[in-house]
Amino acid sequence: MRLRRICRKSTVRINPFFIPKSKFDLRFRVPNHTTLTADFCVAGGGMAGVCTALAAARRGASVVLIQDRSVLGGNASSEVRMHVVGADCSGGKPGARESGILEELRLEDAFRNPHRSYSLWDLLLYEKVHLENGITLLLDTTVVGCKTETIDGVTRITSIQAHRESTEDHFAVDATWFADCTGDGRLGFEAGADFMRGREDRVAFDEARARETADGQTLGSSILFTARAYPDPQPFVAPSWVRTFKASDFVHRAIDGYEYGYWWSEWGGQLDTIRDNDKIRHELLRIALGIWNYIKNSGDHPDAANWALEWVGAIPGKRESRRFLGRYIVTEGVILKGHVPSDQVAYGGWAIDLHEPSGVDVPDKPPYTPTHFKNLFGIPVGCYCSRNIGNLFMGGRNISASHVGFASTRVMGTCAAGGQAIGTAVAMLTEAGHTNHDALEASPPLIAALQQRLLRDDAFLPGLSNRDDKDLARTATVTGDTGNGADRVVDGVTRALKAQWGPWSEDAPHCFESTALPACLDLTLPGKSLIKTIELTFDSGFERPLALTPSDWFTARMTRGPQPELIKDYRITIDGEVVVNEVGNFLRKRVHRLDRSVEGKAIRIEFLATHGIPMARVFEVRIYG
Ligand SMILES: Cc1cc2nc3c(=O)[nH]c(=O)nc-3n(C[C@H](O)[C@H](O)[C@H](O)COP(=O)(O)OP(=O)(O)OC[C@H]3O[C@@H](n4cnc5c(N)ncnc54)[C@H](O)[C@@H]3O)c2cc1C
Repeated sequence: MRLRRICRKSTVRINPFFIPKSKFDLRFRVPNHTTLTADFCVAGGGMAGVCTALAAARRGASVVLIQDRSVLGGNASSEVRMHVVGADCSGGKPGARESGILEELRLEDAFRNPHRSYSLWDLLLYEKVHLENGITLLLDTTVVGCKTETIDGVTRITSIQAHRESTEDHFAVDATWFADCTGDGRLGFEAGADFMRGREDRVAFDEARARETADGQTLGSSILFTARAYPDPQPFVAPSWVRTFKASDFVHRAIDGYEYGYWWSEWGGQLDTIRDNDKIRHELLRIALGIWNYIKNSGDHPDAANWALEWVGAIPGKRESRRFLGRYIVTEGVILKGHVPSDQVAYGGWAIDLHEPSGVDVPDKPPYTPTHFKNLFGIPVGCYCSRNIGNLFMGGRNISASHVGFASTRVMGTCAAGGQAIGTAVAMLTEAGHTNHDALEASPPLIAALQQRLLRDDAFLPGLSNRDDKDLARTATVTGDTGNGADRVVDGVTRALKAQWGPWSEDAPHCFESTALPACLDLTLPGKSLIKTIELTFDSGFERPLALTPSDWFTARMTRGPQPELIKDYRITIDGEVVVNEVGNFLRKRVHRLDRSVEGKAIRIEFLATHGIPMARVFEVRIYG
């Protein structure tokens, strides 16, 4: 025994064919070092990061998007399979759904992926980012550090370091602007951005829903699964290491279907959701498989006999970790009062959705205590700007919010809307030559310009409407051959509003609706103008929810495929000349850049067919020279 040990220690494996060229032979090889330069570096490719990068690149900024996994989408990807919900509370606030980039993604996914393949959703996000000029996408690449500089008391990030170990690449990305969309806040943490963590007490932000005393706990994480029914009974042989559950564990936790795991299979918020993630993963697997074992083998669910697991998540879906501090913090009061600040750049509306940190370990308590409210609320730019790092934006679940406020802002529709806002903001700041987001936060005209740009790109901001002086349609006389409200297409609002959403709102359709098809709208300008771009916003069925979800129950409330309200075929003429002849549209917002400027006065839009309904429904027409 002793001899063997000595032998092992003294054994040196020498490859007889290996001839070292220098002392820097292969054993000392270092990874490739590459420096990339861009206007904007976005860390993290969840829904927040994807929308941030797309918005910035579409408005002209050069972007490097760094994502540590092989697919984009974060918790919405095939790795975790959470459906994107948002301000419309899955149809509970009909019409309040996020538009803009997220709506484009939702509509294209429903059209191209009616059968709900998560791989196709992953690929759609990949395609959108990959094909966008101006985005350099680094997949499987982890942001591990950054360099900062402090000049005249202002700290800025100058460069980040990122590693792609699968190719032995180390990157430095030098940029003017950075966004932390990593969920966990890795970039901001490395940069020294101020952040909060855990649950604040009631006094901290004057919140009735906060705890009496502060603690370090967060919402927990979950691992989901999918299953499907077979014609014959399917056995489930549980691994030896799964948890054991009994009926009383589910008194507050409904097993209301088998095809899609349970969001309440939650655990780990009592630990450190970053540093303990590996331990949490194992426990979540024990829990997910333990629940399935209970379903299959307890005898309490005989109707599950033919069901079998198809997929089990390997990555914990994480709800909460760091929250960065901006100059403004979303709190319970802001949300419940429906406050809409003048510097809003995004909005929310999801319930204050607080959970038990240790989840299934407290079966005698409900897994969550939601506070529902009727209104929407605005999120100001100050929630997306680090208060102590001058060129750092944050997007997604790590924005500036109290624990209670975060419980509403964390949903991915709200994360996506905020992402579009910060991407657009960065493009505008870059164009204007600014290097510190103070320039935006302190400038009402710049904020107003940002809001108008967001509206033009089909975002929604409560109470704000199109005030773009360059939009020639606002000067036009509008008539429709059949139906109601032709002039609503230039009233500046692109959705049906509900009075319940806030004091800024009133029940109003804001939509031209014809009585039949084909139908047409005529916009007559005061004089002949050179026309270069025509933009249309159609109805895409905001009265229904729309998301990719493994849940059959949720899907039954949607239309998977082109939305029936959408105008499918249409034609645009300027003074009788056909400039657009569109067939097969399935999007809500369409921007037609004409091959050349066309001079004219009379713009006619003929709506020839929809994907279902027997009338044309149009929210907005914009015309630009
Ligand atoms: C079980 C569960 C149920 C939920 N239910 C819903 C729901 O029904 N609907 C809803 O909208 N929301 C839901 N949420 C909340 C929502 O999923 C999160 O708040 C949301 O994912 C936050 O989006 P994000 O883009 O900020 O972060 P994420 O989705 O976490 O994306 C961040 C991305 O950054 C990457 N990343 C992390 N660190 C680095 C790094 N150092 N370098 C590079 N990349 C990095 C990650 O891989 C990840 O892909 C749920 C969450 C969980 C866990």
